[in-house]
Amino acid sequence: MLDIQSIREDFPILQNQVHGKPLIYFDNAATTQKPRSVVERIENGYYNVNANIHRGVHFLSQAATEAHEEARKIVQRFIHARSSNEIIFTRGTTEAINLVASSFTDECLCEGDEIIISEMEHHSNIVPWQIQAARKGVTIKVIPVTETGELCLESYRNLFSEKTRLVSVTHMSNVLGTVNPVRELIDMAHAHDVPVLLDGAQAVPHMQVDVQELDVEFYVFSAHKIYGPTGIGVLYGKEEWLDRLPPYQGGGEMIATVSFEKTTFNELPFKFEAGTPDYIGSTAFAEAIQYVERLGLDQIAAYEHELLTYATERISTFDGVRIFGQAPQKGAVLSFLIGDIHHYDMGMLLDRLGIAVRTGHHCAQPLMKELGIEGTVRASFSFYNTKEEIDHFIEGLDRVVKMF
Ligand code: PLP
Repeated sequence: MLDIQSIREDFPILQNQVHGKPLIYFDNAATTQKPRSVVERIENGYYNVNANIHRGVHFLSQAATEAHEEARKIVQRFIHARSSNEIIFTRGTTEAINLVASSFTDECLCEGDEIIISEMEHHSNIVPWQIQAARKGVTIKVIPVTETGELCLESYRNLFSEKTRLVSVTHMSNVLGTVNPVRELIDMAHAHDVPVLLDGAQAVPHMQVDVQELDVEFYVFSAHKIYGPTGIGVLYGKEEWLDRLPPYQGGGEMIATVSFEKTTFNELPFKFEAGTPDYIGSTAFAEAIQYVERLGLDQIAAYEHELLTYATERISTFDGVRIFGQAPQKGAVLSFLIGDIHHYDMGMLLDRLGIAVRTGHHCAQPLMKELGIEGTVRASFSFYNTKEEIDHFIEGLDRVVKMF
């Protein structure tokens, strides 16, 4: 059992007031709040362990290098990667997908080839592929979403052809909350000899991920969605794939030797990490992972499921409520509309009550089009949220509904 009250004390921002009301933070799918230990790690890094890493012979540089490389190992253990060479630090999920899209397209795609994504993707798993597809004349095929907000597996099966080269789908939808059947998705792709990228931005904060057990080729996520700092994230790639792909950016760190005639590239993981990395961010990221591990991902998942079930039950009593995403396997995301109240008005009025929710298309415009709406109100929960907060939220909704 999680001790929610003591957990809340680790997150100073949760004691804040907004518009004179206690903050109720239900925008966790966009970014999570940071525990004291993560912020302290950043402060301590800059105060005591700050020197550029990897090439320094002096004490501070070596200490900073050790901390950064230890952080990589912590990420490796967290997602059960085989080797820390398979952990590439990026600026986040978006950059990790852009990296794979660019390098994979350079190395593996020719005109007429096909890749498969899904209708429920975040723009960051659509647009990088479109940019690259346009460069090489590649076709993007899209798995449709069913009425309950699940991927249509029958259609997925039919999308494969002898030209399919990659599948890139989200592990968990940031709009619908759907946790996709990644085992089946990966098995089906592998049966066609096709590698898979999973966008784990929404999944890793809520469930255990084992990339070896999944046997997935690429897995990407952002630190800021799992209680870590902004501006850093991870690309996991199977070593044989990362070895095969060309570098994404050029610069310091990613080279072995440079001359005007010929440059040779560094080994993994450095081949994909051009320039000074966020070596303070990486250690704070590792601290966030350890914080979550101390709580236990199974306990987190069970508690968040309880919150989601409670909120879903309570919101279902409103006349004219539409909940988007009714998959049996669902993370703590509740997207909804009530009657014809505009999502933006709802968000603004809830904000006056101190309640932070997200409104709009959630960077998933193609999904919105498919659902026939402009946007939703999205409440997304974390282990530091409580049923009492959900009660306040429901009271707030009730007030808003009565105003209209
Ligand atoms: N993928 C999903 C499913 C997301 O929810 C998000 C962010 O909301 C992203 C990708 C992009 O993450 P970032 O902005 O941290 O790169």
